[in-house]
Amino acid sequence: MKKQLLIIGGGFAGFWSALSAVRQSRELRKEDELEVTVINMDEYLTIRPRLYEVSLEGLRVELNKYFKELNIKLIIGKAEIIDPEKNLVTVATENGSRMLSYDFLILSSGSVLKAINIPGIEHTFNVDTFNGAQKLEDHLVELAAKNFEGEGAATFVIAGSGLTGLEVVTVIEEKANKILADCGKSPIGFNVVLIEKADQVGNYYGSEAQDYVIETLKKKGITIITQVSLAGVSLEGATLSNGQFIPSQTVISTVGLVASSLSSFFKGEKDKQGRLHVNENLQLENHKNVIAAGDVAHVPIDAEGNSSIMACQFSMFLGKWSGHNAVNGLFSQPLKPYNYTDYVTCVDLGQEDGMLTTGWERKLAVSGIEGKNIKMEVTTKLIYPAEDVQTALEDSYPSVPNVSESAV
Ligand SMILES: Cc1cc2nc3c(=O)[nH]c(=O)nc-3n(C[C@H](O)[C@H](O)[C@H](O)COP(=O)(O)OP(=O)(O)OC[C@H]3O[C@@H](n4cnc5c(N)ncnc54)[C@H](O)[C@@H]3O)c2cc1C
Repeated sequence: MKKQLLIIGGGFAGFWSALSAVRQSRELRKEDELEVTVINMDEYLTIRPRLYEVSLEGLRVELNKYFKELNIKLIIGKAEIIDPEKNLVTVATENGSRMLSYDFLILSSGSVLKAINIPGIEHTFNVDTFNGAQKLEDHLVELAAKNFEGEGAATFVIAGSGLTGLEVVTVIEEKANKILADCGKSPIGFNVVLIEKADQVGNYYGSEAQDYVIETLKKKGITIITQVSLAGVSLEGATLSNGQFIPSQTVISTVGLVASSLSSFFKGEKDKQGRLHVNENLQLENHKNVIAAGDVAHVPIDAEGNSSIMACQFSMFLGKWSGHNAVNGLFSQPLKPYNYTDYVTCVDLGQEDGMLTTGWERKLAVSGIEGKNIKMEVTTKLIYPAEDVQTALEDSYPSVPNVSESAV
């Protein structure tokens, strides 16, 4: 009977977990004694960091392009229940419910947009999932067909000025004009409004980086309204917490992410985002045959108290560590403590503009066109697996480059 490694989620963490597990099982010459199964909602590794972009082309990578050759089983379905006492996962699939047992589980089901409990939330758009981004794009195509005419048609309201919010506000006008151009129409000007609950935009940055962001938003003519949140949304517009109504047919929520609700099946400490605390080997203290990786994991990073961030630079490497450690755990080999301590952020600020920060203080390192070029290098190349399956397999080894130098 082969040992069963079950991986929930085929995003950055789950994809790299699966490859790393296969690589390590070969290294230990145990590949014939292991079955690796990934449960994912669809057939794709979705490149979530690019879902705000002008075009949605090339933002999904077929999992089976890699999995088939590596004998990784892909089950399309939704994991609904985890029983960590009995090592069982219940999955809803097109053909009904299935119960899967595991010897080792990697939970890498990622994160979702934070739900906000306001009237009309169903009228908001998002760039959290591929379907969400596609729905936004389809809506813009409909508005473009009518030349964005009508009350609020040419006004975009974006709620939340985290990194995703900044990317949406600085790119949405270009996206709308590209859609107009595709219909053979001339570009027009749009009103872009950014609303933020805090008293300043970008207060998570070091001061120089924050100033750069605010200056850029001003230059682009973006209206910033701080100390307000969304209080209600309708087909006609957004009502803010201060009572102001903004006519807009496109209200986009980028209010932040929370961990996948599957984390709730495990006892033990969770952080404010619902992420599971893991030990240095990424295991849950209460269930040593379970690893949490990616956006669902709260991973201690250094002695200063920094912990992992919901970002690809963590998810990819956490995945590589997870598959390795799961296989070593299954075959009684020593686990490898996670040792990624570097941190950068890289934000797209629209045409010919982007910004790279380094360190946990998020100090401005590179901006303008150079910042944009780094951002594009990262999101269009570095976060994709190598085209060649065997090269991707080799890349799954858990080691960390110097992030500040290579700007990954
Ligand atoms: C718009 C946007 C911009 C971003 N920009 C950046 C950026 O610039 N840089 C950066 O580093 N990070 C960025 N991020 C964050 C980054 O995308 C995430 O940190 C990363 O995707 C997390 O990887 P993950 O594998 O943990 O989860 P995900 O990539 O979310 O993958 C989780 C997978 O699990 C599947 N799944 C979920 N629940 C279940 C279930 N119950 N059953 C089966 N399958 C399930 C999902 O369908 C998905 O395929 C951005 C995110 C967004 C949304």
